[in-house]
Amino acid sequence: MDNEAVIVLDMLNDFVTGGLKCERCMHVIPSLKKLVVAARKHKVPVIYSNDAHLPVDEEVVERWGKHAIKGTKGAEVIPELKPQKTDYIVEKRTYSGFHETGLDMLLRSLYHGEGVRAVILTGLHTNICVRHTAADAFFRGYKIIVAKDGVEAFTKEDHEQGLEYLRNIYSAKILTVDQIIRSFG
Ligand code: ZN
Repeated sequence: MDNEAVIVLDMLNDFVTGGLKCERCMHVIPSLKKLVVAARKHKVPVIYSNDAHLPVDEEVVERWGKHAIKGTKGAEVIPELKPQKTDYIVEKRTYSGFHETGLDMLLRSLYHGEGVRAVILTGLHTNICVRHTAADAFFRGYKIIVAKDGVEAFTKEDHEQGLEYLRNIYSAKILTVDQIIRSFG
């Protein structure tokens, strides 16, 4: 596979056990743990794309209420997936990991300046942040791989329709975590 990076979206305390708690999402924790460990082993960059909101952000004021406020415990990655020294953390203030963040610049600098060509999207939620990050990746010409057992949503319908949309609209390859790990070689 060519110049890939694993992007882990919003696996933060507030999204998993806090105010935006998602019971259905618990199963992605062991899958993602396995994926990030394998990625590190194969020198595939692991990038955490984390909500780090200011209290004035639209999402906080209008849509979801207070969540993942920059600098709080709720905005930290869950302990099970704690970032390691070789990983990258890129903060975001809305659904897309690219919007007004340094993610694109980081992806272009990796692989000794060759840049990442395919992003492996994981985390929460299939139909929200995964979808919007996929859109921005698509607009920028990245290939998109989605770990189907490494993403989740608040409902089964949201998850399944989310995956379908990613496949139809962004030509995302929908693979299992095990298939992705095997492709690392
Ligand atoms: Zn948010």
